[in-house]
Amino acid sequence: MGGDRNGAPYAPVCESRTVLRNVEITAELTVPLRGEVFHNLHWQKKLDLSLDCFICKRTGRTTHLRYGEECAVCSGSQRADHPAAGRVAAFDVTDERERTALRAVVDYWWAPFHDTKRDEPATVLTRAPWVRLYLGYRCPESQQAEAFSIQSNMVRPVSQTCTHCAHPLATSAQSPTIRLMS
Ligand SMILES: [Zn+2]
Ligand SMILES: [Zn+2]
Repeated sequence: MGGDRNGAPYAPVCESRTVLRNVEITAELTVPLRGEVFHNLHWQKKLDLSLDCFICKRTGRTTHLRYGEECAVCSGSQRADHPAAGRVAAFDVTDERERTALRAVVDYWWAPFHDTKRDEPATVLTRAPWVRLYLGYRCPESQQAEAFSIQSNMVRPVSQTCTHCAHPLATSAQSPTIRLMS
């Protein structure tokens, strides 16, 4: 029989104890002064966040979110992706002379459950929350658009250079913060 141990592929979406939660994610990068080798570094409007998913009843699932989309995608288990009730509610970028900062808010529905595979209960903000953020740029020399990502569990500081001309792009000195708002 497919699905989870109870035989049902997914829990009903209208769980009676479902609650709406919000998480705030902030990140900051130092960037070189804008000179003649302008690479147009920018935050891409998507992120991956680990969440405890009541639909597939697994904790710490990588959830893909894209700003402007009303639905997220949970990586599920055994590569069985499924739609998840989460969205990026805010995506605010602050660019200054030598830094760029991002503040994103993610709304998601959460309900209590027990992960039978890990034998642990779900928590509102998953036990060891983790985020991956994406940045894009365009190399003026090669005229190529490229992208890279930063994530919570990197050894810092970490610096990124252009894959074409090796121009420095950004340095991440601190992990992004993940904070439960409600
Ligand atoms: Zn799931
Ligand atoms: Zn370049």
